[in-house]
Amino acid sequence: MFVGHIYGMSKLLQTPIEFLKTVGPQRAEFLQKELSLHTYGDLMRYYPFRYVDRSKIYLVKDIEPHTQFIQLKGVITGFRTIGEKQSKRLVARFKDSSGEVELVWFKGIDWVLKNLKVNTEYLVFGKPTLFLNDYNIPHPEVDPVAMEPDKVSAVGLQPVYPTTEKARKRFFDSKGISRLTKQLIGQVRESDLPEFLPAAMLQQYRLCSRAFALVNIHFPKNEKALHEATRRLKFEELFLIQLQLLKVKANRGEAARGALLERIDGKFDAFYKNNLPFQLTGAQKRVLKEIRNDTLSGRQMNRLLQGDVGSGKTIVAVLTMLMALDNGYQACLMAPTEILANQHFDSVTEVLRGLHIEVALLTGNVKGKQRKYVLDGLANGSIQIVIGTHALIEDTVVFNNIGMVVIDEQHRFGVAQRARLWTKNDIAPHILVMTATPIPRTLAMTVYGDLDVSVIDELPPGRKPIHTAHRTDAHRSAVFGFLKQEIDKGRQVYMVYPLIEESEALDLKHLMDGYESISRAFPKPTYQISMVHGRMRPADKDYEMQRFLQKETQIMIATTVIEVGVNVPNASVMVIENAERFGLSQLHQLRGRVGRGADQSYCILMTGTKLSAESKQRISVMCSTNDGFVIAEEDLKLRGPGDLEGTQQSGTVNLRLADLAADVHILEEARKCALRLMQEDSKLMKPENQALLHYLKEGRQGTEWGRIS
Ligand code: ADP
Ligand code: MG
Repeated sequence: MFVGHIYGMSKLLQTPIEFLKTVGPQRAEFLQKELSLHTYGDLMRYYPFRYVDRSKIYLVKDIEPHTQFIQLKGVITGFRTIGEKQSKRLVARFKDSSGEVELVWFKGIDWVLKNLKVNTEYLVFGKPTLFLNDYNIPHPEVDPVAMEPDKVSAVGLQPVYPTTEKARKRFFDSKGISRLTKQLIGQVRESDLPEFLPAAMLQQYRLCSRAFALVNIHFPKNEKALHEATRRLKFEELFLIQLQLLKVKANRGEAARGALLERIDGKFDAFYKNNLPFQLTGAQKRVLKEIRNDTLSGRQMNRLLQGDVGSGKTIVAVLTMLMALDNGYQACLMAPTEILANQHFDSVTEVLRGLHIEVALLTGNVKGKQRKYVLDGLANGSIQIVIGTHALIEDTVVFNNIGMVVIDEQHRFGVAQRARLWTKNDIAPHILVMTATPIPRTLAMTVYGDLDVSVIDELPPGRKPIHTAHRTDAHRSAVFGFLKQEIDKGRQVYMVYPLIEESEALDLKHLMDGYESISRAFPKPTYQISMVHGRMRPADKDYEMQRFLQKETQIMIATTVIEVGVNVPNASVMVIENAERFGLSQLHQLRGRVGRGADQSYCILMTGTKLSAESKQRISVMCSTNDGFVIAEEDLKLRGPGDLEGTQQSGTVNLRLADLAADVHILEEARKCALRLMQEDSKLMKPENQALLHYLKEGRQGTEWGRIS
């Protein structure tokens, strides 16, 4: 493990953690396994997640309902134990000049009785809670006043470290960890924490030095020092990620030659002149121009196309594929589900009618002779466009000359899957990734910083905003009445039930119960009902979808399999059952299934009466806006980036300090800064960038720089 001296980083930070006093080999092994702390350097970067202010002493009368942590000075006037066995607890009366409060222990009672004395002055620190109209402080930290000045906890802002239940049992609670960091910081000198950001950058962005930041993130001298330290380290973190992403992009630009798609005077023009079913929106035209520029550059296109549900991404995909065809290349369109692949196949075949283009479908369900026909056609080039699912990336699929890959609703495809497509040709095909899950700008910069981003920010004309309402079971008969009205007008209705993977059987039961009660409320032959769920055979699903599409049925009962991309313009009402069980982006996706035609559309969110604060917030966001970007931002705030769809696999959002929702400002500065550096000195050759270069190189041996690649 001991790596010896490496330029720029001190030996000290490479020291294995076992050499820290009181640690030793056994506890070191535990710290490695449980908290990933291998070296002094790891501990240095094991940041507190919040701080408590121990510089101030408050009075009992200052305690208010929203008081978080509070420090009091006073005496214990007496103890008493209450309850038996499990519910046994120790209560101490604690008094200062302004009043009294109770201290409560549920565990470690014997220890407390042995060590704490009545009528002795103590500093008490803890979080007051309100119980039966009285404040008490459960499990407070209690320190004798006389001893206090020597202790770590005595000075100002005290760090609170993340830890685990297991670690706590081994005395590595926050206090235990803080003893280690305190000890470490006592040993390091400024030269152990050398600066690697260029001086001019520090000056321009008013960043404190690395040494100052690393010391003050653990034991801030004061609020201001903490603020400066945090800002510097967040900046550093985001800057390094941006730099890495830009580097990847630049390398790919150099390495990955892309097919030159100069001609658009064949199918593209013919389609544009004769087959275009409507006028393109300004946004669609702009995006097509961006794609055109990419494909004329001689480099491989890697573009992310974001457009809210219903914004018209499909037609952009079609025109983009035609650019490839006009230059003698094949194109493919990959969808995340069988239903969606089928639907794309139908609509693309339909719009391309008369252009003499061979379009094929390839999904897991295409078998035998037909499969062989498609595979042969792709290999010999007679099939020009293929539409399918992830079946397209299987090894048996060989293209004659694939020039354009369009991936729809990419959040269902992992990064690794995307990469497999790259390798299907000598020359990397152009890649267009389309998503209707709008990714907040900050996240796009971090997760997809290596892709170029286009946005369709305009809906086709004539769309009416969808009305969204929240209803509970008490309103059910009124809701059903409304559905009947709409169906009488010739509209169609979706009813969606949640699906939770842990209990597929239970979900199916909910769906079946739903189906039965809906069948009773909407009897045949007046009403016809379709049902689609994940357990059905693809052919059956397809049959039911077709019936709905052909208006043979008026109600479609489904699980979230219909979430993505399905297009039935005549459907104008979306009812979501147990809406509280869906995430925001999923609700938005589902709602996007309606409002695709010229009719007024509705989305009804059905929930129980008891809702958590977060569910309430989600429902209220849905009722107040149709804007996917606003919803994505809210989602980011509510759930944090780690949970957002499409980000789990990327690994780039495992940030130590920075918070993508809160630190937009710092992120933008860091990105600007990284961009400039890449423009001015992309190989980091200039003398002032040497420290950074060496830091990055070292990083490949195990620090954060290595991990994010
Ligand atoms: P999404 O971006 O969700 O994939 P689609 O491509 O499915 O959206 O388009 C949604 C609907 O809008 C389709 O019925 C499509 O034919 C229609 N559409 C797309 N672009 C336009 C346009 N410029 N003018 C009118 N209708 C359009
Ligand atoms: Mg779509």
